[in-house]
Amino acid sequence: MTSLINPASGAVVSDVPESDVTDVSATVARGRAAFEEWRDATPSDRARVLLRVADLVERDAEELTRLEVEETGKPLAVMRDGELPFGVDNLRFFAGAARSLDGTGAGTLSAGYTSMLVRRPIGVVGSIAPWNFPLIMAVWKIGPAVAAGNAVVIKPAPQTPRSTLALVRLFEEAGAPAGLVQAVTGGAEVGSALVRDPGVDMVSVTGSTATGREVMRGAVDGLKRVHLELGGKAPAIVFADADLEEMAAGVAMGATYNTGQDCTAATRVYVSDDVYDDAVEALASALGRVRAGDPWDAGTDVGPLISAAHRERVSGFVSRAVADGARVAVGGRVPSGPGFYFPPTLVLDADQRSEIVQDEIFGPVVVVVPFSSSSSSSSSSSSPEDHAVRLANDVRYGLASSIWTRDVGRALRVANRLDVGVTWINDHLPIASEAPHGGVKGSGFGKDMSQEAVGEYSVTRHLMIKHAAPAARGSFRPA
Ligand code: NAD
Repeated sequence: MTSLINPASGAVVSDVPESDVTDVSATVARGRAAFEEWRDATPSDRARVLLRVADLVERDAEELTRLEVEETGKPLAVMRDGELPFGVDNLRFFAGAARSLDGTGAGTLSAGYTSMLVRRPIGVVGSIAPWNFPLIMAVWKIGPAVAAGNAVVIKPAPQTPRSTLALVRLFEEAGAPAGLVQAVTGGAEVGSALVRDPGVDMVSVTGSTATGREVMRGAVDGLKRVHLELGGKAPAIVFADADLEEMAAGVAMGATYNTGQDCTAATRVYVSDDVYDDAVEALASALGRVRAGDPWDAGTDVGPLISAAHRERVSGFVSRAVADGARVAVGGRVPSGPGFYFPPTLVLDADQRSEIVQDEIFGPVVVVVPFSSSSSSSSSSSSPEDHAVRLANDVRYGLASSIWTRDVGRALRVANRLDVGVTWINDHLPIASEAPHGGVKGSGFGKDMSQEAVGEYSVTRHLMIKHAAPAARGSFRPA
């Protein structure tokens, strides 16, 4: 049994049974049987199930919202009016995507033959999810895999399993074959058994970079396809011509949404040194306006962190930075009272190479670092844009980023040079079902959402039909 803790109070909300590692292979075997049926389901059948699940999620919105707010501490309105409807939109998108997957090409590529390129599912997908957006992460894992014709065994994070378990039941209710979408519960041990199970054909994980590495190791022997959505350390680059008030509001939101427990959170703000003081003042004021509080209160912008241990980790980053010479301009102190709260925090004067700038904190902590506004005449690559790009790319992660400027050309030039999966211009965070989400470098590889995600859960096959006697036999005859 795992006791689930409400992070806003520290109280136990429920106990959930944990799967035994031996349950994993029996679950995967049931998934295999369901796959044999589902692989031949028509696109229309697949879409119908996903559309029904979307309707059922809407029907059960109140209950799913309650489970998620209790387990994560995220504000009620954020879940009810934002994340839950977004998950429904994702499911409806995947339903549509299921119907435009086949028939990518047909024609004569070699004289006397007709070739067809078809996409086929991969098999049983073992999916592993984090605790920060439990329902949406489950949708991102299950939706594209099922749309492409696969079976899924998902392991939610041990802190937040209940909305995923509910979603799995909704697939059954929606008419998916028994065993098509199943869950196993538990932590790293159960996750590792799932990754290594010989019946699992592909592994998809959203989690920390360290976990991504472990999962990849576990997938090596079976040479399984791996899909990794890992950590982030997003820069926000602020040029002198930016609207600083708008930047401050956008970065404050981008840094504190979900209490900063977001892989795309704005965490490093690089500011042109000629507007540094004004930018810091605007950011301090915007972060000071973010209301942390009871998740059930309508006025709450952000809730607590997920656990006492995680708060310890977040506050450790801040205190070590201060010991190292950095300065806290806003927040930084663990408040008294129940729950695992940590305030929006602004850190200044940290060194680019220090851990608070380099490592993922996963809390509402923003670090501001200036970049030079003057071009050096001694080097051809030291314009303000060069300085900013160098600093932004100088971490092991590469997931998200934002650029704040009124100069469209500059925004596009800089965006093209950032080693990341997404760049927002004059905003930070918004996403859409149609747009791929995923990173590069230490942030992993593979895309969630969009048609690309559905493609990742399938393989392109070549069918070649001979309909005329060839003049000569041979494997590599040109067309
Ligand atoms: P985590 O890596 O600790 O755990 C993620 C999941 O992996 C959990 O279900 C956990 O039980 C499981 N797990 C841990 N070790 C495992 C192992 N050896 N084998 C198999 N499974 C294992 O991450 P977390 O603390 O739950 O979530 C936070 C992390 O997730 C952050 O680094 C965040 O950036 C990342 N994240 C990334 C994205 C993205 O899209 N790139 C989205 C959300 C979260």
